Amino acid sequence: MDYSRFSPESLMMSYGYNPHLSEGAIKCPIFQTSTFVFHSAEEGKAFFEVAYGHRKKKKHEKIGLIYSRINNPDMEILEDRLTLWDGAEACAVFESGMSAISTTMLEFLKPGDLLLYSNPIYGGTHHFIHHVLTKFGIHIMGFRAGETMDEIEMRLKGSGLSDKLGMVYLETPANPTNDLIDIEMCVALARKYSVADKNVIVSVDNTYIGPIWQHPLKNGADLVLYSATKYIGGHSDVIAGAVLGNKELIGRVKVLRTFLGNMISPYTGWLLLRSLETLKVRMDKQAENAQKVVDWLKQHPLVEKVYYLGCLEHSNPSQHAIYRKQCLGNGAMLSFDITGGEKEAFTFLNNLKLIKLAVSLGGTESLAEHPATMTHVDIPDEERAHYNITSKLIRLSIGVENPQDLIWDIDQALEKVAQLDHIYNKEVAF
Ligand SMILES: *Cc1c(COP(=O)(O)O)cnc(C)c1O
Repeated sequence: MDYSRFSPESLMMSYGYNPHLSEGAIKCPIFQTSTFVFHSAEEGKAFFEVAYGHRKKKKHEKIGLIYSRINNPDMEILEDRLTLWDGAEACAVFESGMSAISTTMLEFLKPGDLLLYSNPIYGGTHHFIHHVLTKFGIHIMGFRAGETMDEIEMRLKGSGLSDKLGMVYLETPANPTNDLIDIEMCVALARKYSVADKNVIVSVDNTYIGPIWQHPLKNGADLVLYSATKYIGGHSDVIAGAVLGNKELIGRVKVLRTFLGNMISPYTGWLLLRSLETLKVRMDKQAENAQKVVDWLKQHPLVEKVYYLGCLEHSNPSQHAIYRKQCLGNGAMLSFDITGGEKEAFTFLNNLKLIKLAVSLGGTESLAEHPATMTHVDIPDEERAHYNITSKLIRLSIGVENPQDLIWDIDQALEKVAQLDHIYNKEVAF
């Protein structure tokens, strides 16, 4: 069958799965097994030769199931389905987003290499870069959204390490302010410093917008990474991760995964297969809700500024130019500055009734948090202010609830903040 005529959402129920290999079961079962029985010793030998890279797969040869650290149907079918959203050749799935990120960095960087990475960046990634990679003698250098290629290059040359550049790693849109980084600019930079025997790899963490509205491989990136805990899982009940790219690069990532042993478990893989069936409808609804929440927030007197991809057109032409090159939608992540500071932000958060006060994002239920004291607390104060992560910033992940209920909830929590200010003013007057 020619699958290319179908949209990814039409294939999430069936792609890569043959019911007749599983008693006709319409759904892929959970292959809760550690090992697989070979038909013959010869077959076992052939599978191992290919799995361990001792020889290349022959044309039409199928590499069979060996052992669940190497391969398992739930893992492989999930990988096949994930490739469809990003138009990738191959995918490797992991037990967490962090294991996808750390395994990728360890595979493509070696002692002496330089990693160039964007800021602000997910806290776990920041910690891994600063405290683990450096322990292995890998040099690191950050840049931020808004820096031009010339500015980045000048610092790169100034460091004396430009010939050591091994990877450009970026997160866009950036958490929590939706700042965009130009993927094509990073690709141009990487190509400029690639030489015959060393390709500088461009990796993009696409978690914050999810797999539907941004496809970094199409902008020239080599690898795209996800915390599948977020939109892909979508129900706040699993931790998982993924890396996608061409067969050669993903093949290398899979070999390291086999030896680190951080592959996804059959049960988590199965849960994600289930999640993928509703990815498009969930994300469409979440994005539609987010737009409604933003439209309402923008008119509220206690809301100073909204950070949302759909607001760039009039507020920030240079960011909007990047948006037009690489984004196909606005997603369901937004943040806003509340009038006041931590006291007002906390009053708002403590008074929400339907929206839950929790970190993480992209799930069916709406969540709210305070980046400056929670997800981004590790970033030094001065740097945080630079990224607009101040005490008055609140981050929202919008779910699939009735949007009027979300707006009602935000309204009544803001009303509590208004009352607080009222008391204040009296106290001051007194
Ligand atoms: C959550 C997250 C991660 C880490 O993923 P885990 O699944 O929690 O390990 C990485 N990057 C981004 C942008 C995230 O939001």
